[in-house]
Amino acid sequence: MKNIAHKLTKSFKQKLTLMVVPHSTLPQVRLQISLSFFLFLGSLWIGFTFWAALAVFGNIDYWKTKASYEILKLKVQFFASELKKSRELVDQVREADAQLRQLLKMGNRQAIIEERSSSSGKGGPEAFERSILLKSLKKHLWEISESEIYQESSAVQKEAKSRLESFKEISEQIAYERGFFRATPRGWPAAGRLTSKFGERVSPFHGQMQFHTGVDIANDKGTPVLATGDGIVSYAGWESGYGQLIVIDHGFGYTTHYGHNSKILVREKERVKRGQNIATMGSSGSSTGNHSHYEVWHNGECLNPWNYMMGKSQKFRRIVRK
Ligand SMILES: [Zn+2]
Repeated sequence: MKNIAHKLTKSFKQKLTLMVVPHSTLPQVRLQISLSFFLFLGSLWIGFTFWAALAVFGNIDYWKTKASYEILKLKVQFFASELKKSRELVDQVREADAQLRQLLKMGNRQAIIEERSSSSGKGGPEAFERSILLKSLKKHLWEISESEIYQESSAVQKEAKSRLESFKEISEQIAYERGFFRATPRGWPAAGRLTSKFGERVSPFHGQMQFHTGVDIANDKGTPVLATGDGIVSYAGWESGYGQLIVIDHGFGYTTHYGHNSKILVREKERVKRGQNIATMGSSGSSTGNHSHYEVWHNGECLNPWNYMMGKSQKFRRIVRK
């Protein structure tokens, strides 16, 4: 053992000569160092190399992280701008909604909806929510938090849902108004001339004053008698005084009566459309000549049909001109 230690010490004390021989006239350089010093220099060099390698790899990680962070920032910016576009679209939809409601004179309902969703844009929680994104976009990107994006996204979704509900309501309103328009008596039930008005008149049968519950339109026998609004035939048959009578129930409280027909072309419970030929003119029942006796009723009250015969329907205007 002692022998080995002695041998090692001896080896470390050995000298090494390093010669630098230049390919020119420069003098040769001779360096004489001990083996132990040479080993010391060698380990120093290896240690330095390791340290440099570690530093380089550390740096690569840093740049990698930095690059993915930059990508993340771009993604956040992209989503934020997309969200901003969605918000702008929803705002446009709300304006369209308000215009539609104005056209349909749905002001009261709008007030209800506005109260329900606070969507007037003039204040309230939504205005606060909307400012979140604007605030965020003004900030440095790295300051925009997920919760801000989430809040804005929720606000846009809430607004879209509210508009959807509103459009459903508008759609229902349009359907109702369309139905009401189609069902309200409008125009003349037949071409011809007005021979007797609504109200008090001298009876053509007994010469005494009586209340005429409709208007009389005279024309040739067989002249088409038309439904003045959409509805369902609630009566089609003989009725004392009226002769061959048709009654149409239009809904919304309206009914119309068409008397003295020569022929009935529809059946009870049949659905009819405005302008549909339902009968032909005649002189059945208590009548002195071919004419159509036309009545308009609303909620059990007998109305003056004349007020419903001046409608804007081109079809009936043509009939008036005949
Ligand atoms: Zn009459």
